[in-house]
Amino acid sequence: MAIRPIIETPDPRLRTRSTPVDGVDDELRTLIDDMFETMYDAPGIGLAAIQVGVPKRVLVIDLQEPAEEGGEPVRNPRVFINPEIVGESEAMSVYQEGCLSVPEQYADVERPESVTVRWLDRDGAGHEERLEGLLATCIQHEMDHLEGVLFIDHLSRLKREMVLKKLEKSSKAKRAA
Ligand code: ZN
Repeated sequence: MAIRPIIETPDPRLRTRSTPVDGVDDELRTLIDDMFETMYDAPGIGLAAIQVGVPKRVLVIDLQEPAEEGGEPVRNPRVFINPEIVGESEAMSVYQEGCLSVPEQYADVERPESVTVRWLDRDGAGHEERLEGLLATCIQHEMDHLEGVLFIDHLSRLKREMVLKKLEKSSKAKRAA
């Protein structure tokens, strides 16, 4: 396994539409293993393949929620290949989102509270499940990446420009350091 570099906005690759996976093979499983290692190292709770520069419809998620309050985070790695949203709730929820490709910037985003998703696992087997809460938000955020969409695109223009300005400032400061 290897940690791969995460690409950051304004890298134009983040704006490309990822293509479907046409077969689950060892090369794809290596990519998935690398994506988990990269995500845990960052650290983050979700990562789409395009964020490591691979335009394939693959994403990994692990919310790493503590089993009990104050306990150690428990790993629950999940991989979604060719995910599709086949249903969504009318009810909406708001979470403060961030993104490893938009480092250190956070903003509230409203999305459906639950979504029904169909996908393939790392053995190529099909699944369909209704996802709720943070997992629903996270998979919608990651699936946006497959379309070249970032969470900041859900913000008002004013808010988005503020985030991008802050990002530019902090990356300038980092370069100067
Ligand atoms: Zn993201």
